[in-house]
Amino acid sequence: MSREFVQLHGILLKIIPYAENDSLLQLLTAEKGKVIIFAKKSSTNNKSNSYSQPFAYSKFELISRGHGMMVYSGSQMIEYFPELRQSPYAMAAGEYFCEVSTFVPENIDNPNEYLSLLLNSLYLLTGRKSKNIDIKVIKLVFEIAFLQLSGLMPDPKECSSCGNKPDYWHFDEGFLCENCAEKLHLSEIHKVDKNMFAAIDHIMTVNGVRRYSFTMNSESLKSLIYLSEQYMKYRLEAELKTLNVYKSLIN
Ligand SMILES: [Zn+2]
Repeated sequence: MSREFVQLHGILLKIIPYAENDSLLQLLTAEKGKVIIFAKKSSTNNKSNSYSQPFAYSKFELISRGHGMMVYSGSQMIEYFPELRQSPYAMAAGEYFCEVSTFVPENIDNPNEYLSLLLNSLYLLTGRKSKNIDIKVIKLVFEIAFLQLSGLMPDPKECSSCGNKPDYWHFDEGFLCENCAEKLHLSEIHKVDKNMFAAIDHIMTVNGVRRYSFTMNSESLKSLIYLSEQYMKYRLEAELKTLNVYKSLIN
């Protein structure tokens, strides 16, 4: 069977233990999105295997034999974020971003956008940028941008039912105006003020690191942080372990 050498650039999301000490590695890559590769224990024992450092962005050398899983044959670290280990909050947020990234959909045509979002968010958590951004804001932007990439963010500019100016968020119906929201169960609609809409719109239209810098009053920010997290959990239909750790630290 013919062997092909493949190079992928990505970050380790999860190690899945496999038979006889071998492992399956779940990666988020720029080229193929989420992939699972096979790694023999003997090939990963080596201390020079930097990919398993938390939050290491690496170049992976893989062997593909046509069908079946790609096999790990080496890696080279490109960038990592050691500062995250100095702060339990930043560490917990970074682990949450990686867990959410295990929900990147299959067969996508924009894998590099998911990877950039993850790398930008990890980079900002390090505090290397001169003007520090609050971890809660980095998390908020990561969530909304991730949901947008996944096609799960409604249009914040209009009521999804009639096109008027929206005032509410319904997790199934989208953003709704007062009239359209009235018809729905009160417990399922969430008030969204104009500052929150402006922030959502900013996150969804600005790219790169500028996406994380916006100002809003603390009351609206708090509400939006709450709603974004609820919506993420609702859409992923999952209990996110790393989110619980993050919340226990941040509160
Ligand atoms: Zn409406």
